[in-house]
Amino acid sequence: MPLSNGDAMDASKAEIADYTTAFEVLKRDYTSSDGLDIKQLIDSDKRGALTYNDFLVLPGYIGFAASEVDLETPVTKRISIKAPLLSSPMDTVTEHSMAIHMALLGGLGVIHHNCSADDQAEMVRKVKRYENGFISDPVVLSPTSTVADAKELKAKWGFGGFPVTENGTLRSKLVGIVTSRDIQFHPKADDAVTAVMSTDLVTAPSGTTLAEANEVLRQSKKGKLPIVDENGELVSLLSRSDLMKNLHYPLSSKLPHSKQLICAAAVGTRPDDKIRLQKLVDAGLDIVILDSSQGNSIYQIEMIKYVKETYPQIDVIGGNVVTREQAAALIAAGVDGLRIGMGSGSACITQEVMAVGRPQAASVYSVSQFAARFGVPCIADGGVQNVGHIVKGLAMGASTVMMGGLLAGTAESPGSYFVSNEGQLVKAYRGMGSIDAMEDKKAGVGGKDNKASNAGTARYFSEKDRVLVAQGVSGSVLDRGSVTKFIPYLMAGVQHSLQDIGVTSLTKLHEGVRDGTVRFEVRSVSAQAEGNVHGLHSFDKRLYS
Ligand code: GDP
Ligand code: GDP
Ligand code: GDP
Ligand code: 5GP
Repeated sequence: MPLSNGDAMDASKAEIADYTTAFEVLKRDYTSSDGLDIKQLIDSDKRGALTYNDFLVLPGYIGFAASEVDLETPVTKRISIKAPLLSSPMDTVTEHSMAIHMALLGGLGVIHHNCSADDQAEMVRKVKRYENGFISDPVVLSPTSTVADAKELKAKWGFGGFPVTENGTLRSKLVGIVTSRDIQFHPKADDAVTAVMSTDLVTAPSGTTLAEANEVLRQSKKGKLPIVDENGELVSLLSRSDLMKNLHYPLSSKLPHSKQLICAAAVGTRPDDKIRLQKLVDAGLDIVILDSSQGNSIYQIEMIKYVKETYPQIDVIGGNVVTREQAAALIAAGVDGLRIGMGSGSACITQEVMAVGRPQAASVYSVSQFAARFGVPCIADGGVQNVGHIVKGLAMGASTVMMGGLLAGTAESPGSYFVSNEGQLVKAYRGMGSIDAMEDKKAGVGGKDNKASNAGTARYFSEKDRVLVAQGVSGSVLDRGSVTKFIPYLMAGVQHSLQDIGVTSLTKLHEGVRDGTVRFEVRSVSAQAEGNVHGLHSFDKRLYS
């Protein structure tokens, strides 16, 4: 006899549990949480070939605002930054402008080495000079310096406030100060700076704390505050614009004492690179990345030991690696960080040509779980096309994520925009193992000097090679505006994602992945289709505003 509606409801009512017992039912009836823990996820792909697109993270419980999610993370054993984002050492991605802006925004830009050592050292110097607390080695003029000298120095350094001392050096008696405004309209370039300098100076005594000196600077309403010792000799300088930079960029990656931006640069592992490194260290380098597509080599192991012995103050990041075995060799040699990825970069053809490499999610998981046991932070390098990929790299255990192609289209990357054949605004982007980069013939993009001094591509060929085998391609990427908008978008995206996952910080994400409370799901091909825009006649994909 068919049940009436009322019967059906009564019948199902009898089976429906009291909703207030939902959690008890969950605990009683289910032996494990929905989805997979990370081990099950990795094992679910028996071939161990997981890429970022092959899985998703399941949502958790939200009890906090996205803006509260803390993205602070270590980039090496000793140095932490507030945004887990790095720009790649490629000649179409990171020179000083990118490095400065990435650091201001809380990340880090790694300066490429496809240029002469002197050019690279100059870029490091620009990053280190960009922001300061006390400027401990200010550019100083002597009373015989001319207005022309001051103008020349301003053109070279970008700043125009120069103390004038008796000997023209630090630790000599301060006699005046020349600023941009003093020389701007001065008609005679040959006049000594003493003709234009101000002499009635507001100064502070050495021993003044930075906070106190900043207050004097605020009160004085001047652009500069010279710090002098009891004999009136110049000790250091403070700049008003640094107060503004500190205000505008609260997340910036700075050293706690000097307030200078943290600077990272890449070098190779050849004998010449030791000379290059010395120049970078003299310019103030903090972190060196040993740039190799296959990091597990005798050259790199020796270089790691050399750097650690010669420059104990410098942190060294080794790589690239994709297996635990590779990682173990570099960890044993003493690296402070590891860079993971082989063949997953957007401009890269290594896997196709060399048949060597590993899908990125599997690489990141394998290496970073191992490295975590030794307290060595890992960078997931390459293959990042969107916010989701960043989160997945971090969920697989990386502390930071490195991007090339995604940042190459920003205003801060080297080179100029041009209009593509399709009429879109684009910028050049090329793999460092592309024939173009190896021959270094594209003037105007990245390194332009002679090939012998452009070591960046040594990663992909040795001088003895008669045939250049390309491991990358050369192309272009769409305009992405300025990183000052794009990086905050990526960060806000990561914060929203972590909120969905139900974790309040990157540390908690890593903990949750380790203890199995952060859950994953395998993403079939049809799931990937379902998860992307589908069934629309047309659409406009604006990512942020
Ligand atoms: P200025 O007023 O023309 O000197 O330039 P700004 O105030 O715009 O910029 C000065 C910036 O350069 C500050 O962030 C300083 O920390 C930085 N800087 C680094 N080294 C020096 C230096 O030797 N002299 C000066 N004046 N600024 C320096
Ligand atoms: P904060 O979180 O940036 O304020 O860092 P601290 O707590 O270490 O700041 C100590 C003092 O240094 C405060 O007076 C800050 O205003 C000042 N300070 C921080 N960064 C800079 C900077 O880049 N330049 C200058 N001149 N002062 C800074
Ligand atoms: P600018 O805006 O970059 O040119 O730099 P400032 O605001 O520091 O300087 C403006 C004018 O003030 C210039 O003529 C400077 O020589 C002068 N000046 C800078 N510092 C001092 C100071 O401590 N005392 C006095 N009296 N003048 C100063
Ligand atoms: P992307 O963010 O564009 O996907 O990848 C950037 C990463 O690709 C770089 O950080 C670097 O590790 C890698 N890469 C850069 N140039 C080449 C190249 O020519 N060949 C290979 N195999 N990898 C490259």
